[in-house]
Amino acid sequence: MSAPGQLEQFEGDATIEKVASLCRRRGFVFPTSDIYGGLGSSFDFGHYGVLLTQNIKGEWQRSMIQERDDMVAIDSAVILNPQVWVASGHVAGFSDPMIDCRTCKLRFRADHLGQSACGKRPSKHPGEHSECDLTEPRHFNLMFETHVGAVRDDASVAYLRPETAQGIFVNFKDVTSSLRVKPPFGIAQIGKSFRNEITPGNFLFRVREFEQMEMEYFVPPAEADEWHRYWIEQRVNWHLNLGVRPSHLRVRAHDASELSHYSSATSDIEYLFPIGWQELEGVANRGDYDLRQHSEASGTKLEWIGHEERYVPYVIEPAIGVGRAFLTFLCDAYDEEVVAERPRTLLRLHPRLAPVKVAVLPLIGRDAAMVEKARPLYEDLRRSMSAEYDDTAAIGKRYRRQDEIGTPWALTIDEQTLADGTITLRDRDTLQQERIPLDGAKQLLQDRLEQPWHPRG
Ligand code: ATP
Repeated sequence: MSAPGQLEQFEGDATIEKVASLCRRRGFVFPTSDIYGGLGSSFDFGHYGVLLTQNIKGEWQRSMIQERDDMVAIDSAVILNPQVWVASGHVAGFSDPMIDCRTCKLRFRADHLGQSACGKRPSKHPGEHSECDLTEPRHFNLMFETHVGAVRDDASVAYLRPETAQGIFVNFKDVTSSLRVKPPFGIAQIGKSFRNEITPGNFLFRVREFEQMEMEYFVPPAEADEWHRYWIEQRVNWHLNLGVRPSHLRVRAHDASELSHYSSATSDIEYLFPIGWQELEGVANRGDYDLRQHSEASGTKLEWIGHEERYVPYVIEPAIGVGRAFLTFLCDAYDEEVVAERPRTLLRLHPRLAPVKVAVLPLIGRDAAMVEKARPLYEDLRRSMSAEYDDTAAIGKRYRRQDEIGTPWALTIDEQTLADGTITLRDRDTLQQERIPLDGAKQLLQDRLEQPWHPRG
């Protein structure tokens, strides 16, 4: 990594506002139920947002599950037996300290006052205005409550999961007895989590409903520190291999006062967002906390029983939010430049993350002979990769539309195609155009998708 963690300010053209505006304008992300005034920091994903999200999850699945032989997948329920959350410590301890302002009636996270805006004067922080009247910090549980069944009483209370991890721990026995696993091994899960955050904000950075990609890696206790280091390195490399600039990534170990109730050591992989360094992913050593808690509370022993050994494994957990990764990739990829005196905005996304891999463009949309070549090419390409066909507007405008959604390649069919069967391959990042045979286009793009890719060449 070149000078990792040294920068103090984000380098690039992105701001959270610009990225959010592009996302709305180009159909990636919309504020939820906007026609009714929205719902705080809640968002819906539009077509390109769905494709980008699928690609992020696909890359995680590929590196965490598909390309390994020590990993299995799970998809557990969102609403679990409420005793799970008592045993895990979430009912008693999954809370943030909150402060209310009696003047403006707003509520703030006590540890986020420096990043929050005063209700009376947003240019100041809570407590800085002469009329601020703040309460002492009180603990506020972040879990959303609901009721299961027809009766709404204390016995029917249940929770929307605030993390996917517990759904993994409570399945430990079934997984180890039904699948061929042996420590060190991992169980990986992608799914929705819900937290009633006091101060959501910064677009997708902190929301109340989000998807997490979590993996619990079960190891012999003596090997836990070594595997913790290993997973920090693996996860940093995942981000780098998907094109995140090394100067915008760093690893920061939590000090004792920051550790969660279950953690014996945690390191955050931080990204330098336009709002400063923030947690992108946490890699925790959860020790044997969870398996022991659930063994005790449920009466079912959750332990590893080998031929000659029996122990409660320690657990290493890399956990990342899909939306936070989405925001990271977009901030890193967002670029504005002037080409031939015309401004262009582009997303320099890794081709494997790009929502659309290739656009097929007949130079003249009304030219029947060009369309006759372009449509079959497009229909062939879309069988193996996400492709778009566009025969509207001037070619320059069509290129720019694709640049803004991050499409790495455009194939243009023109007069020469009709004469010699070649087409133009335009590169989003370098703007270089090369002539290639139409027949070999699909294979060429498939090969390029397999190759390593780095931002700005
Ligand atoms: P924070 O301290 O920012 O509240 P956390 O340390 O509680 O976060 P974890 O419980 O470690 O977060 O969650 C793992 C990952 O899930 C985070 O690194 C982040 O990527 C994602 N995540 C957590 N909370 C949110 C949220 N409210 N919105 C979006 N993503 C989130």
